Amino acid sequence: MQTLAIIKPDAIASGKAGLILAHLQEAGFTMNAARLVRLTLPQAEAFYGVHKGRPFFAELVAFMTSGPCMPLALSRKDAVPHLRTVIGATDPSEAAAGTIRKLYAESKGRNAIHASDSDENAAREIAFFFPEGELAALGS
Ligand code: UDP
Ligand code: MG
Repeated sequence: MQTLAIIKPDAIASGKAGLILAHLQEAGFTMNAARLVRLTLPQAEAFYGVHKGRPFFAELVAFMTSGPCMPLALSRKDAVPHLRTVIGATDPSEAAAGTIRKLYAESKGRNAIHASDSDENAAREIAFFFPEGELAALGS
């Protein structure tokens, strides 16, 4: 099974992308596809459309468009729930020791990494960043 992670702009800007990639690979994930992208506002609003209307939405899309981010299609057994465990709670102050957010996140908003929350959303989010032809060309 596959899931989508995004190394968020705070972690790219602070030079943590390599450490986070190593952490993901140590956790047993295989990288099927990767990009470095700067999201436009309409793209960020579409990706996080489920949160439209929430009080943090404007701040979230501003942050996600503030610099490059790195979407990753990742696979492993139980990819979706396992990645959620590996990244930790949304707020790093509540994240378990050793999780990516505990180690690398700055705050609840600037929290280093995104992970899909269901198989259905993982498929939608992977398709958002990686056209089928690109995945096929990679053998993914
Ligand atoms: N977020 C925020 N404040 C909140 C809740 C969420 O800034 O009170 C941001 C944060 O960057 C989070 C993203 O919105 O990662 C999506 O929220 P979600 O509840 O889906 O958390 P996640 O699935 O990323 O843990
Ligand atoms: Mg979420």
